[in-house]
Amino acid sequence: MAGLRTQVLVVGAGPAGGELARQLAAAGVAVLLVDQLADLSQAAFSSAAMPFASLERFGLPAQVVASRWRGWQLLGPSQERRSWTAQAPLGVVLDFGALRQWLADQCSRFGGDVRLGLRAFDCQSQGPVLRTLLRDRQGRVHAVISDWVIDASGQGRALLGPSRPPPRTERADRDLVEGVGVEWLLQVPLACWQRWSDQLSFCLGSDWVAQGYGWIFPMAPGQLKVGVCRLRPDQLQPPLGRVLEQLLERLFSPDERRASVVLDRHGGLIVSSIRRRDCHGRGQLLAIGDAVSTANLLGGEGIRHALSSSRVLAPLLLGAIQSRQPFALRRYEQLLAQQLGWRWSLSGRLARRTWLSLTGPEADRRLSSLLAGLESRRAEDLAALLFDYRFERYGLRSLPYLLGWR
Ligand SMILES: Cc1cc2nc3c(=O)[nH]c(=O)nc-3n(C[C@H](O)[C@H](O)[C@H](O)COP(=O)(O)OP(=O)(O)OC[C@H]3O[C@@H](n4cnc5c(N)ncnc54)[C@H](O)[C@@H]3O)c2cc1C
Repeated sequence: MAGLRTQVLVVGAGPAGGELARQLAAAGVAVLLVDQLADLSQAAFSSAAMPFASLERFGLPAQVVASRWRGWQLLGPSQERRSWTAQAPLGVVLDFGALRQWLADQCSRFGGDVRLGLRAFDCQSQGPVLRTLLRDRQGRVHAVISDWVIDASGQGRALLGPSRPPPRTERADRDLVEGVGVEWLLQVPLACWQRWSDQLSFCLGSDWVAQGYGWIFPMAPGQLKVGVCRLRPDQLQPPLGRVLEQLLERLFSPDERRASVVLDRHGGLIVSSIRRRDCHGRGQLLAIGDAVSTANLLGGEGIRHALSSSRVLAPLLLGAIQSRQPFALRRYEQLLAQQLGWRWSLSGRLARRTWLSLTGPEADRRLSSLLAGLESRRAEDLAALLFDYRFERYGLRSLPYLLGWR
């Protein structure tokens, strides 16, 4: 692969990179999509729940959908249990590996070049072009010359580097919300699967997961994803793997546990800055997706926002390529902020406030009364709250909570 030349190099074949690469390839741009993974269907770390509207908006096919859901079940705090069911499906759980693979296949189908098992580690200007260095699995280094490079490597920002280089201020640290998640894909008896199918279930409260939450999502018949996520990983807390085991002990009978098989164990980091002041690019090196804090920590959700970031950047980049004038790209950061909407930072604050403060009975009581207030609502209202961040529907009473005044 020595001395490869392309118009656009996209580093990272996650939802953001895959979507941008397919958009550019479809428009006739020479694009090279690379990922450090050797197989995109592996390391499917994301639980991948998504509202139905996003599936339609991004034109995702049935082959990337593992299951549909039309309700919510909230377990906790303690023994509390609440559920809401809609008439029609509200969303899907994607097969994250299949989604990545489909996006990459689409890029190839439109004439793009996809190469796996390559880790990018350096990108420098060389006159009017960029020279990016990639290491393959045998340790060999390859150089790619391109007009543009897109850092779509997720929260690690492999090429652009940390959003905020040290020294970081206390305010900047507060702005950064970090979560770590562990998830198992389980094969369970069909009767057990049926109990959890058709709905997204969450375990809430400090005795379930302190400073975080757990979830049970249905996949294809007989398969469940069970996971836990905690904000600000804390050394004093029990390891997340242990928390997940305890969750399984509470949710499944001994017989169900004996009859279950762990098909895959995975996990990862979700990092996002609430005010999204990340550097979105330097010259012809630009970033999309989690690399520019499009993951939302309220529901640990970032796939559709990563896809959105690519949809915002693609026409701007195409305009810059065609006119050879990069001016339009100056609007990228602003347009992406508009796309995410004014409720975005409120949802980030709510995430930090809700999950970080969830450390004991007092916080559990507060959460319990907040959930009691949702009991009269419909399943669709909960979707609007969690996916559209429509907090104002819950009245001014919730605002002091959102702003951290109580
Ligand atoms: C445990 C967990 C559960 C989640 N659950 C959900 C959920 O239910 N719903 C939801 O919407 N979101 C969920 N998310 C978040 C969601 O997965 C991310 O927001 C989304 O994947 C971000 O997409 P991305 O393309 O920006 O980054 P990523 O998906 O992280 O993709 C980045 C890609 O870049 C590659 N890469 C990284 N560094 C390099 C390098 N140096 N060179 C080459 N390639 C590189 C990686 O291998 C990866 O494929 C979850 C995340 C975690 C960790």
